[in-house]
Amino acid sequence: VIGAGTAGLAAERHARAAGARTLLIDPAFAGTTCATVGCMPSKLLIAAADVAHTLGRAGRFGIEARGRPDGRRVMARLRKERDRFVAGVKKSFRALPAGVRIEATARFAAPGRLLLDDGRSVAARAIVIATGAAPVVPKPFRGLGDRLLTNETLFEMADLPASLGVIGAGPLGLEMAQALARLGVEVTVFDQARALAGLPEGELSERLRRALAGEFALHLGVEVRARAEPGFVLLEWSGSGSGTHRVERLLVAAGRAPRLDGLALDAAGLRLDRAGVPVFDPGTLQCGDAPVFIAGDANDRRPVLHEATAEGTIAGRNAAAWPDLGHAGRMVPLALAFTRPEAATVGEVPDMADGAHVSADASYDDQGRARVEAREGGLVRLFATSDGGRLVAAQIAAPGGGHLAHLLAWAIAARMTAAEVLARPFYHPTLEEGLQPALRALCAAARSPAPWDRDDRPPPGA
Ligand SMILES: Cc1cc2nc3c(=O)[nH]c(=O)nc-3n(C[C@H](O)[C@H](O)[C@H](O)COP(=O)(O)OP(=O)(O)OC[C@H]3O[C@@H](n4cnc5c(N)ncnc54)[C@H](O)[C@@H]3O)c2cc1C
Repeated sequence: VIGAGTAGLAAERHARAAGARTLLIDPAFAGTTCATVGCMPSKLLIAAADVAHTLGRAGRFGIEARGRPDGRRVMARLRKERDRFVAGVKKSFRALPAGVRIEATARFAAPGRLLLDDGRSVAARAIVIATGAAPVVPKPFRGLGDRLLTNETLFEMADLPASLGVIGAGPLGLEMAQALARLGVEVTVFDQARALAGLPEGELSERLRRALAGEFALHLGVEVRARAEPGFVLLEWSGSGSGTHRVERLLVAAGRAPRLDGLALDAAGLRLDRAGVPVFDPGTLQCGDAPVFIAGDANDRRPVLHEATAEGTIAGRNAAAWPDLGHAGRMVPLALAFTRPEAATVGEVPDMADGAHVSADASYDDQGRARVEAREGGLVRLFATSDGGRLVAAQIAAPGGGHLAHLLAWAIAARMTAAEVLARPFYHPTLEEGLQPALRALCAAARSPAPWDRDDRPPPGA
């Protein structure tokens, strides 16, 4: 197994459980991306930002509150908690049976044969590629020295900068932009496109943009150039608008690319797609018909943690059992950005031009529970089959969007119709309740009767 991240650890464990003799190869065994520079430190930063934000708007609830973020303490707490998570991963490295762990960088020498950077070579009956992904730094932003940040360096800052530019309005860029803005950093975000946080361009992205407006500056549809100046980065942009701005640091969150460059995949005899990723079967994770499997961010299909774990499991089991492969029924796609409000996409969003699907919206602009918490504003769009109203997908930019996304993912996985979801209890007052108007509209559009024994009006007063 090449790579001891989330996918690689799962692959090694499951291959060994299936009876294989395994080797887990990684140059550092430093901890997974998730624990060291990904999910956990980013959520720790957001948690601090949530506290600052709550204090900042306490007056809306009639509460006098004061508090200013202390950047050094925010970053120190982040790293302390992050290191706890990393220690947990390192404990699992230590629990590996003797001889499994190989500290080296691997590349293919031939099909079934790896060459390690310490000169050793490994022959294997089957190989799992689980090398993860690395941040992409486009050309205009190289050469900025330590003024340039990526997710690999952001969390090492001793203190918060006074100002930050962010390149990329995807999930990672926007999560960090909003969190840092809430912690008092003057943030400016740029993107060539107009789609936000993984949502499609159009109404959903626009809803999220409106919700974020006022927290930080957002320039969409622009090309940015950057130049290092003493103590600053000078940003100059043009496109839908133009301008210049000086920032103390620049976070490049312009996407992450599979880390396959150094693997010498040509020597493995694998067929590659145009992006240089081996062509693989998502059900088995096998690359072509070779005894090679690819899991996690390395295959660039669903670069999120629960999928890395699942794919590691499938790849590890199949590598051990090759050529007797199991074909996995993959999970409902679920992608989530922890912005406030949260943005999510669930399921496979259908092409509405095919006439086989209907959609309906639930507005959170005046939703009871959202209003109670002063978090109103947002939209959920549901998609269902026009024949029967079976839920297939959802797009979300709404308060509590992470919870709504899970609920909907589970309903989609259970192949539930809108009417069947409506027949379930909805507690009052909750954000979940806000889905009911869209579910009813789907029943009407799909000519599928809503349950006769449920009231279909919003609760009185909310
Ligand atoms: C800032 C950020 C926030 C995120 N937040 C979330 C979130 O909230 N929720 C979520 O679900 N996902 C999130 N993700 C995504 C998630 O972290 C990844 O999907 C997941 O960690 C991928 O795991 P992996 O095993 O594929 O890769 P990794 O954990 O990166 O493991 C790859 C390993 O391969 C090793 N390697 C590379 N090349 C070689 C080689 N040639 N030889 C040997 N070893 C090699 C590397 O050293 C590394 O240890 C986030 C990612 C980032 C960057």
